[in-house]
Amino acid sequence: MKKKICLIYTGGTIGMVKSDKGYVPSGSAFLQLLQSLPEFSNPDFPEYETIVFSPLLDSSDIAVDEWNKLGRTIASRYNACDGFVVLHGTDTMAYSASALSFMLENLDKPVVFTGSQIPLYELRSDGRDNLISAILLAASDQIHEVCIYFGGQLVRGNRATKLSSDGMHAFDSPNYPPLVKAGISFKFQLMNDLPAPTGPFRLQPFEFMPLGVIKVFPGIQFELFESIMIERLRGVVLESFGAGNIPSATTALLPILKKAHENGTIVVVRSQCPEGKVNLGTYAASSALKEIGAVDGGDMTTEAALAKLYYLLSKGFEPAKIKELMERNIRGERS
Ligand code: ASP
Repeated sequence: MKKKICLIYTGGTIGMVKSDKGYVPSGSAFLQLLQSLPEFSNPDFPEYETIVFSPLLDSSDIAVDEWNKLGRTIASRYNACDGFVVLHGTDTMAYSASALSFMLENLDKPVVFTGSQIPLYELRSDGRDNLISAILLAASDQIHEVCIYFGGQLVRGNRATKLSSDGMHAFDSPNYPPLVKAGISFKFQLMNDLPAPTGPFRLQPFEFMPLGVIKVFPGIQFELFESIMIERLRGVVLESFGAGNIPSATTALLPILKKAHENGTIVVVRSQCPEGKVNLGTYAASSALKEIGAVDGGDMTTEAALAKLYYLLSKGFEPAKIKELMERNIRGERS
């Protein structure tokens, strides 16, 4: 029997047209264009239904409310469809794919995000292969997770990061091999390392949370961040140097982090290097972080760490439980 795919169009370059203010998303004209592609009437093409979001958005405007809307849309069509393709702008696609990977608990169907660097309307668009391949992959029996198909490869959503603002190979998954490489045929390289589902599919909506991402740089004055870190934020992703190092880790930052920790703020240490992992305690410059209760972010991307904080805080867990789960692999997001 033919697989049925739910194609959800949220906006992004793939369906954009030129306006006098620059590219803007278009709705019905884009759907007509899709349906005029010869692949859509090929007998081997899966059955599909389309859902068009309103308003259509540039993905820089996508955050918690839109993730919840996307999650609810997928949940409402979960039993009726075999797989899902989400057309989404590239700018925040890795954040949305990470968010959905946590939000969709016990997912056992493919959810494939894609988009393009050049609108489908234009001659050299990369949208056509991205779209058709994403639909075919969403019809696969082998995929049970949220992924991104872009530029000839399928990568795990919560391992992905946007690599290029203008290259066709726009996404990479620096700490995890691609799930599928697309050549003449799809070459699956799945590692079957996802934690097993623990129950039926369920949607965990996110709550809006005051979170922060702080990138450490030479000369950073940590005192300037003191009040927001201690009083305002419920979670901070600290992008550190190398394997988790912070300048003068034993002076300005530590008392702030200690108070933040005592106040229940979760501080996750990530590396600024896209490849490799944090290992708190390897250098003296990072062991103090470990002692005051910072979370070792391992090889998670910033996108995944942030999405995971939203998820765990939205579940209402206590800080100790959040810390424990942040350091554990729950959706394939860390090694
Ligand atoms: N600004 C666009 C967006 O993220 C870029 C893209 O789609 O590639 O929505």
